[in-house]
Amino acid sequence: MNDLLPGEIEVWQFVESTARTLFGRFGYGEVRTPMVEDTALFVRSVGEETDIVGKEMYTFEDKGGRSLSLRPEGTAPAARAYIEHSVSNQEPVSRWFYMGPMFRYERMKTGRYRQFSQIGAEAYGAKEPAQDAELMDVVVQFLEALGLKDVTLNINSLGDDNCRPAYHAKLVEYLNAHREELCADCQQRLERNPLRVLDCKNEKCQAVAAAGPNVLEFLCEPCRAHFTDLQRKLGVLGIRYVVNHRLVRGLDYYTRTVFEFIASHPALGTASTVGGGGRYDKMMKGLGGPDVPAVGYAMGLDRLVLLLKEGGKTFTQRPDLFIAVADEGSQDEGLALASRLRREGLKVDFDTRGGSLKSQMKRADKSGARFTLVLGEQERTSGQAKLKPMAGGEPVPVALDNVAATVRAQPEAAAPVPAA
Ligand code: AMP
Repeated sequence: MNDLLPGEIEVWQFVESTARTLFGRFGYGEVRTPMVEDTALFVRSVGEETDIVGKEMYTFEDKGGRSLSLRPEGTAPAARAYIEHSVSNQEPVSRWFYMGPMFRYERMKTGRYRQFSQIGAEAYGAKEPAQDAELMDVVVQFLEALGLKDVTLNINSLGDDNCRPAYHAKLVEYLNAHREELCADCQQRLERNPLRVLDCKNEKCQAVAAAGPNVLEFLCEPCRAHFTDLQRKLGVLGIRYVVNHRLVRGLDYYTRTVFEFIASHPALGTASTVGGGGRYDKMMKGLGGPDVPAVGYAMGLDRLVLLLKEGGKTFTQRPDLFIAVADEGSQDEGLALASRLRREGLKVDFDTRGGSLKSQMKRADKSGARFTLVLGEQERTSGQAKLKPMAGGEPVPVALDNVAATVRAQPEAAAPVPAA
């Protein structure tokens, strides 16, 4: 679990505000659900046999003897809220997004944490492939807005209750015949959740999976039509994708479409999936809610942040102005001037400790401010001061009652590099 301090938080804020903008454009409203839910919610939706529920949940008993869990993912809590508030009675289609911390007791590795942050979106009420395509489009535009380029969309269809059983049976038969070639984990998965074998990162397991039955060949006609139309729509939107018949995702609730965004970047090591999702048309009913189709996805912020940091861009906003005071007697007026300029919208830094002008100028350098204004007795009596550009260049004369407008009117110079 990580602490995020100023200096690091800005990149997170950038990702979050970009997400808010993009989801807003697509008509997705934000939902915030509690961090804890009844354990049963995750058992019934994500599935007992998944790693998430079987091994990774932070589960505890509260003082009332109820079994609660810190949420390991956001789809089930959002579905619970959708059902609890009878949202389907109020509107036929709802589009929601969420962001916030999730908790999984994971093994330590790059890009994997026990408290991590996800941004996710869910669209309820539309079973059509256009909804799947629209959801992928938000993600594509979100990644574009972040400036992340080397990300590939992988798609697959897992079929539905009609056609999946035949595939499942064939897969189990095939995997049993190759049991000895699988890793120890996969031999167990084979008993409890055979689809997960296709997810295994072990090379031998991947080789077995690659030669196994192809789920797409088992799709019934409606599922095939859904998948074909989805691909056509992605084409209409100009979204590039790869069909990957081994993509299954680790959760139980998916039907038909599943997808993942995979980043090829050494910074992420093997943990290269930045996000994924799929359609879960049966889950609402399974949780005791209305028979409402849904499609959703979730993306890990921690990995997006890692990728952005690798890009070398800075996200900290430097102050417009540093106010330094030349003498003890100007301290109060300096404080008041800073306050007034902040009210007028400038980002202003001011050394509340006072001290020598020399030490304040050092601090001004370090702050990365665009300009420094020195306030002394002379400036106070004349009402005139100078804006010293910290990147070098001629000082700009300024009236003390016109500082904000003058700062705003100055052309942006290259950012001064703050001293380490
Ligand atoms: P999942 O809910 O397992 O499909 O995960 C969706 C995305 O959340 C993944 O692609 C990761 O980017 C992110 N994620 C999942 N688990 C973790 C974790 N333990 N630490 C950091 N990110 C995670």
